[in-house]
Amino acid sequence: MSEINRRLVLAERPTGMVDASTVRHEEGEIPTPGEGEALARVRYISIDPTIRTWMDDAPGYLPPIGIGEIIRAGGVAEIIDSRSDKYSPGDLVFGMMGWQDYAIADEGERTMQRLPEGISPTSALSVFGITGMTAYFGLIDVGRVKEGDVVVVSGAAGATGSTVGQIAKIKGASKVVGIAGGPEKCSWIVDELGFNAAIDYKNEDVSARLREEAPAIDLYFDNVGGEILDAALANLAMRGRVVLCGAISGYNSGKPPAGPANYLSLLIRRGRMEGFIILDYLDRFPQAQVEMGGWVAQGRIKAAEHIVEGLEHAPDALNLLFTGGNTGKVIVKV
Ligand code: NDP
Repeated sequence: MSEINRRLVLAERPTGMVDASTVRHEEGEIPTPGEGEALARVRYISIDPTIRTWMDDAPGYLPPIGIGEIIRAGGVAEIIDSRSDKYSPGDLVFGMMGWQDYAIADEGERTMQRLPEGISPTSALSVFGITGMTAYFGLIDVGRVKEGDVVVVSGAAGATGSTVGQIAKIKGASKVVGIAGGPEKCSWIVDELGFNAAIDYKNEDVSARLREEAPAIDLYFDNVGGEILDAALANLAMRGRVVLCGAISGYNSGKPPAGPANYLSLLIRRGRMEGFIILDYLDRFPQAQVEMGGWVAQGRIKAAEHIVEGLEHAPDALNLLFTGGNTGKVIVKV
């Protein structure tokens, strides 16, 4: 057991990608739990694109991380000491951990949830975690996917996008097209995950390929924004729906994204574009996890995980999301 608590704090706000000056490594005492609290040894940290947005001094759905504050992140930990009836040593829990070795769980703001029976620590962060739930509720609740839909998803070999495509097939989509970077990712989503077609946005003309593969998109699930969103809007079917899940192409740019030039497609084709934040669905996770669990057990959903070893590599792990160095969910094994 580590005798100190290693913590990675925000040293300065990045411009572009996170680099050596963004994060400072600190060492401190292992925190002592007070009455009603427990000490959690962080085992796995979820690496999410939104962490990069929290590093900017810009309004968001959560406040920016302050300079000198620990980098905010979800994760899975093991309770190793407890002065609370809610937690027992040995419990595996999910919650906000931060980029550090130890965290304090309490019964209020820093509450942590026990992992459901049969769910592994990494799948609690991937297919049963935020990205799996984002795919589930984004597609079903916000996108209202239905049988016969032509579905297009960007970021298709990532944690969220790869799950979206597979759920769309389960829900009876007539065609699922994924947009991803590079031939390997494109082969993977078609050959392994059952997408009907893939568009390699790094080597192909996305507009031209969308006109071939999906000239009438019923549901576009957007993880990247920018030019790919525009290309999808140009191919929207009548009453087409666009789910705004994320816009990773702009997170490093330091400026607000340009508006989509093709937004009038929504008017002409009587379309709908709707954003969502998965935190609004937390109370419905258990129901979704049961359904997802069934699909995983039947082999209808495959969850890819990209594990990076070592807390000190968390900044590199975050950058993988922006270079496309990951296939599936990025997780740091502390
Ligand atoms: P992923 O596992 O999908 O990783 C990000 C992927 O984005 C990379 O693998 C890369 O794949 C792709 N990418 C990076 N830069 C670009 C670019 N400029 N253009 C196109 N693709 C790019 O991450 P997540 O599944 O965690 O997140 C996916 C999206 O979902 C993000 O936008 C995130 O913010 C959003 N999200 C939203 C939530 C919500 O509540 N609304 C909750 C969780 C996630 P490639 O090699 O194909 O380029």
